[in-house]
Amino acid sequence: MTSPSSSAASSPGSGPRAVLVTGAGSGIGRATAELYAERGVAVLAVDHDEYALKELAALDGVLTLAGDVSREESNRAAVELAVREFGRLDAVVLNAGIGGTRPWESPGAVEAAERIFAVNLRGPILGIRTAVPALRAAGGGAVVVTASVAGLRADPGNWAYNASKGALINLVRAAAIDHAPDGIRVNALAPGLTWTRINAGVRRDPVLAAEIERRIPLQRFAEPREQAEAVWFLTSPAASYVTGTALVVDGGLDASLGVLP
Ligand code: NAD
Repeated sequence: MTSPSSSAASSPGSGPRAVLVTGAGSGIGRATAELYAERGVAVLAVDHDEYALKELAALDGVLTLAGDVSREESNRAAVELAVREFGRLDAVVLNAGIGGTRPWESPGAVEAAERIFAVNLRGPILGIRTAVPALRAAGGGAVVVTASVAGLRADPGNWAYNASKGALINLVRAAAIDHAPDGIRVNALAPGLTWTRINAGVRRDPVLAAEIERRIPLQRFAEPREQAEAVWFLTSPAASYVTGTALVVDGGLDASLGVLP
């Protein structure tokens, strides 16, 4: 772990100086943490997989913390550490999420769904509740929650994940309204198919990958960095009038009927 610049200062109209990113050990969260660090923002990277945080911990300006976003004490510990080490917190990226929907009638389907809801929905609820006082103390800030195009439309056999991400998109609207008076903007990122661990199985099957890519107007999966750039935008002064919305970054998937020439 290297030391971030302590007491990261911010001036009105500047971008965030200190951010907290959950699910930062892999994929979109990791690309997001790396992008902030490259651009001189102090980052607290949180993941329940301590091992996955090891490489990030070597980057300049990045602190890491092992924690489970579905647990209240992990959220509290993360916000307290960020404020103690950076002197402020300007943005939180509540990105940790899991799949794992089981068929409707299979044993354990409801229990699996409850775990999905705990990480994908309870996690961001706890994250927002815990971060708001720190963001308010910084004079306002930004929250980005990673939802999914699977929260806008349903895909076969994915009901629990679909439900969790759909609820997140409306949670973001509600939180945006409630926290607007404090100058806190709350938005969702709705990624389409992105090359992360979640899609490792597809990557190993070129025929399946080509079949899926054919249905995406831009004809390819996103790289995690392309999602990170959208998160950056949502926390930047360029998005100063953007709140309560979902930014869809999906290569046109949601815009199409999935039947392309
Ligand atoms: P990923 O598996 O590469 O990364 C997810 C990270 O979250 C992992 O490092 C994992 O250890 C961490 N995590 C999981 N549960 C956690 C918990 N309880 N506490 C703390 N950390 C936890 O997957 P990704 O694709 O980068 O996913 C990031 C987000 O993007 C998720 O919310 C996912 O639902 C969403 N998303 C992904 C895609 C895609 O195609 N990859 C599409 C739409 C939405």
